[in-house]
Amino acid sequence: MGAGPSGLAAAWRAALRGLSVTVLERAGHVGGLSASFEVAGVRVDHGSHRLHPATPAHLLADLRGLLGDDLQQRPRNGRLRIADRFVGFPLKAGELAGRLPPRLLAGVARDALTAPLRNAGPGAAYAETLRASLGPALYEALYAPYAVKLWGLPGEEIDGDQARKRVTADSPWKIARRVLRGRPDGQGRVFHYPRRGFGQIVEALADAAAAAGADIRLGTACTRIAPTAEGVLLRTAPPAVPGAAPGGAGPAGRGAPPGVAAPRGAGEEFTAGRVFSTIPMPALARLVEPGPPAGVVEAAARLRFRAMALVYAVHEGGRWTPFDAHYLPGPGTPVTRVSEPANYRVSAADPADRTVLCFEIPCAVGDEIWTTDDFSGIVHDTLARSGLPPLRLAEIAVRRVPHVYPVYETGYAAHLAGLDAWAGTVPNVTTFGRLGLFAHDNTHHAMAMGYDAVDSLTSGGWDAPAWRAARARFARHVVED
Ligand SMILES: Cc1cc2nc3c(=O)[nH]c(=O)nc-3n(C[C@H](O)[C@H](O)[C@H](O)COP(=O)(O)OP(=O)(O)OC[C@H]3O[C@@H](n4cnc5c(N)ncnc54)[C@H](O)[C@@H]3O)c2cc1C
Repeated sequence: MGAGPSGLAAAWRAALRGLSVTVLERAGHVGGLSASFEVAGVRVDHGSHRLHPATPAHLLADLRGLLGDDLQQRPRNGRLRIADRFVGFPLKAGELAGRLPPRLLAGVARDALTAPLRNAGPGAAYAETLRASLGPALYEALYAPYAVKLWGLPGEEIDGDQARKRVTADSPWKIARRVLRGRPDGQGRVFHYPRRGFGQIVEALADAAAAAGADIRLGTACTRIAPTAEGVLLRTAPPAVPGAAPGGAGPAGRGAPPGVAAPRGAGEEFTAGRVFSTIPMPALARLVEPGPPAGVVEAAARLRFRAMALVYAVHEGGRWTPFDAHYLPGPGTPVTRVSEPANYRVSAADPADRTVLCFEIPCAVGDEIWTTDDFSGIVHDTLARSGLPPLRLAEIAVRRVPHVYPVYETGYAAHLAGLDAWAGTVPNVTTFGRLGLFAHDNTHHAMAMGYDAVDSLTSGGWDAPAWRAARARFARHVVED
């Protein structure tokens, strides 16, 4: 269930092994959050997406095999707004010393010297954890306001896990070392990106899975899962979600790939030997019959996902800036990042007379951002307040995505543990993926989960110890920005 990178990677690996594979995807296109689609003739992504060089070598080799020269290696060229000015991101030493206000620099230096005196206990919240590791100056200038925008909560109400999963540099010294010498692994200054947008990765995975025999059914939601003596009975239905309409050219901007089937109208039932679920874990709990006990239902209801409005602004007159992304952590605008997808790649297909920008606005389903009809006002206001150049705005397109970031509110871990423990008891069903494990993961992490799930499916049945070991590896994933 789910044709994002985790589901597609699993489908491809399983089909290559000769297993009979059916993929049920609710949307009318493959790719989930990693999909691309077209706005004004320009391929765009669901917010800024890059394939990080931390991608394990075997996955990168597979993607190179699928995408060939279309998978480009590109230099990073972003900017971060801090203390009302832009600095290059990734950070560069010379520029930082010259650009940051002396008060902030002095604070960061003082925090670096006093770092050994600070210590947050294991149960500390996000705020306390980062104040202790990075120091109060950097935390207040950058991470505190960003947390409120990204997850809708002050750092004091966010679990410390969020800091451990999202912040790869955990001391001022580590940041300083990276700024001066780059990352020890040589990463951070480059990334991989396909010529036709990030979604070319998932489209290539879907094509490969279909070529290996997988039956990918778009516009097909799973509505019921019932373990039986023969396996798992699944009921499907066309989705009631607007925009998830099946068939034809999906938002990926092309028809379904060969072997990727449009839905078959009315729902149907069939039995699977094993179900891999990559849909949100709380949604899985609602589909399984018999359902979980009341305590688990309550736990599932208390896990929250942050939503996002993605606003695509078409700018006339060529490229807007030479930068790939502008990070806006400050409180002056609800926008967290503005990216210009054409700057992520070298492609003759990108028009010379226009470009498209993507404004990422985290929000909650139904709140004033989710429901506003004045996105152009937010766009213009953001540019004016953030020192960004004005736009020659030709048109705006908006995409609202309900499940974007798992929210690690204080107390989430107990709710998640209860739900996860129950999910582990559903016979022949395995949950994984970003939404399936309520994890802040990159695309390469999602793909790795798909590979590991298939590796745990042996000729002798489900290898539970292998899957437990894989889950322990997933728990160590740290998100790369
Ligand atoms: C703003 C943003 C920026 C990001 N930037 C990067 C980046 O730079 N680099 C990077 O590597 N990663 C990035 N990511 C993360 C990346 O998008 C995800 O890690 C990846 O897409 C997760 O893959 P997945 O298959 O686990 O889940 P998803 O991509 O969410 O796919 C899940 C699929 O399940 C389907 N589904 C849901 N319910 C049902 C149902 N009932 N029946 C059938 N199907 C269903 C959905 O339609 C979807 O297609 C970013 C994410 C966001 C939100």
